[in-house]
Amino acid sequence: MYRERSVREQSRARLKRTIWRDALIIFGVFTGLLAFFISVQAFEHVVNFSDGHESWELDEILTAIMVLPVAMAIFSLRRLREVHAELEGRIEAEEQAQAMAMHDPLTGLPNRRNFNRVLDHAITDADERPLALLLIDLNRFKAINDLHGHRAGDDLLIAAASRLAEHIGPLAFVGRLGGDEFVVLLKDVREGDALIARLEKISACFDPPFQLAAGPVSVGASIGVTYVDTLDLSADAVLSQADAAMYECKQQRGNGFRLFEAGMETVAIHRAEIEAELRDALRSGRIEPFYQPLVRLEDGRIIGYEVLARWRLDDGSLRMPDDFIAVAEEAGLISNLFYALLERAAADVRQWPADLIFAVNLSPVQFGDAWLIERVLQILTEAGVAPGRLEIEITENALVTDIELACDIIRRFKRQGIKIALDDFGTGYSSLRHLGELEFDKLKIDRSFIANLQSSESSRTIVRTITAMAHNLGLQVTVEGIENAESARSVIDFGCDIGQGYLYGRPASEARLDRDDEPGERVA
Ligand code: C2E
Ligand code: CA
Ligand code: CA
Repeated sequence: MYRERSVREQSRARLKRTIWRDALIIFGVFTGLLAFFISVQAFEHVVNFSDGHESWELDEILTAIMVLPVAMAIFSLRRLREVHAELEGRIEAEEQAQAMAMHDPLTGLPNRRNFNRVLDHAITDADERPLALLLIDLNRFKAINDLHGHRAGDDLLIAAASRLAEHIGPLAFVGRLGGDEFVVLLKDVREGDALIARLEKISACFDPPFQLAAGPVSVGASIGVTYVDTLDLSADAVLSQADAAMYECKQQRGNGFRLFEAGMETVAIHRAEIEAELRDALRSGRIEPFYQPLVRLEDGRIIGYEVLARWRLDDGSLRMPDDFIAVAEEAGLISNLFYALLERAAADVRQWPADLIFAVNLSPVQFGDAWLIERVLQILTEAGVAPGRLEIEITENALVTDIELACDIIRRFKRQGIKIALDDFGTGYSSLRHLGELEFDKLKIDRSFIANLQSSESSRTIVRTITAMAHNLGLQVTVEGIENAESARSVIDFGCDIGQGYLYGRPASEARLDRDDEPGERVA
């Protein structure tokens, strides 16, 4: 369907046409001359002339002329063979040049140029519509590339490309746009269940781990899909729709696909604006640490603070992390943000009593940062803060993306005396085996369980059971989102160790070392 006529086919056709044309010309000239010579009885004239000039030995010359065409024919055949061989060589070179210009040298898939041509054609040709354009982005490519090196990154791209191409088959277009971004054009699709089922299968084909020389790696993909059944859209518009859908998909931080919906484009524009502003804010130091107390439930004493990022806007109001952490992750700014925040927090912590700890949030994206542990230690050393005072909070979902990588990083942090807490526990997919295997110090039960502690028996059972299990594994339990005294009483009854929530203090720009101060923050 999307196969182009090869250079070889085109050249063969050209050669065939030339041979036919030449053969026709030769045949035409030959029959014309023959008719002319017959009409003027040329042969008789030659015979008569030859008889009249016996001494000229014309019969020998005529015999030589008769033999000449045979020699000429042999010569022509040989020449034809040479030309043919020459032509084949040229075709091959031309074919290679075209393949190089239109294909990605690493994976062998059609490249962006090739795709642009195919897309232009597809959206203007009514026969090709309706079609679905899929933009596929691998989810953990950068981390694997950083961790295992570029060779492994290349191997992964090759493996992903061939798995995708094999799954899609020869009837649809599969290309690589660059980096870890692939594209698929499905022709003749109808919106609805069949398309969804197809997309589910395509998405699932990235699920099994890829076997690289460096070992098995799990990647997964985010797929943005746009469905085209009108002539109204330009190729650029179609592509940016798929891009916006892909971004939405990435936002959900899981593998899967999203179909484009109206409005997603404005989200994409908004995101680009925030991204530019965030770069600026990072440069000018407007991302600030806020501190929320962590309280020992047993006696109500503050044992430390969780550091939460706040973005100070020009008018003094604050932008909350839910509005920019995901953008920072996507734009590759999360490491900068993390280090900037850690530096400022460490400088503050130095002023605190030495028994207070501080907890920072680590994004799963940062697992790809090869110098993570070294940088953290360097910042602590420069600030003069002991590593034992730092706690790193990792969300459950971070474990799902690459358990081995998580394991390795946790172990290396722990070796330096840094503590690890498993954040938002109960919202993700970590298995009990992970809890046993990974050497966490704390488990933070997600605030969604606490919100309906009073009304829901099952929430109470879950919190009680998680606490008992964590204690059996030697982990401390922090409960997030404690907003009122009843919740506090319940979790104290369950034997939870540490509490965090508005009841004890909202995140504030300064740690409340004097606990009588009124905490609070102004929210944008
Ligand atoms: P989190 O790590 O679960 O942080 C706790 C969140 O719960 C904070 O939201 C905090 O303000 C909120 N919270 C605390 N007590 C209560 C309460 O009693 N009731 C309610 N309803 N909420 C409470 P915040 O500061 O908006 O942060 C949201 C999320 O953004 C954090 O969730 C964390 O996942 C992420 N985040 C914040 N700062 C950073 C950062 O520096 N790096 C990274 N990677 N993520 C961050
Ligand atoms: Ca946290
Ligand atoms: Ca949390």
